[in-house]
Amino acid sequence: MITYFITLVGLSDCGGVCSMRWSAMKLKYRQVVIAERCKECGFCIEFCPKQVLTKASETNSRGYHPVGTGEASECTGCNICSMVCPDFAIYVVPVEGKHFSV
Ligand code: SF4
Ligand code: SF4
Repeated sequence: MITYFITLVGLSDCGGVCSMRWSAMKLKYRQVVIAERCKECGFCIEFCPKQVLTKASETNSRGYHPVGTGEASECTGCNICSMVCPDFAIYVVPVEGKHFSV
């Protein structure tokens, strides 16, 4: 249902959601995963429009496989992964581009 909504309103390229137009600024991003919060629900993996997220092979202290970080060059910084995470376990930060360096 959420996938249908995202496709319907044209948000999959993230240009439609971000008034900052960060994607147009050609910034690069990396995902930050708080592994101990992740419960392996897979929402972020399912709804990432670039499909850059996967499950890590190792487990956290609760026995879940947290999300592993994806390929930075593919991440648009749309933040859909953080918006759909019920446990606030993932977010993205800009790492390289016109205005940012982390
Ligand atoms: S911000 Fe999250 S959902 Fe968006 S492309 Fe990057 S990893 Fe995927
Ligand atoms: S949505 Fe959150 S809790 Fe679910 S797999 Fe992704 S990071 Fe983990």
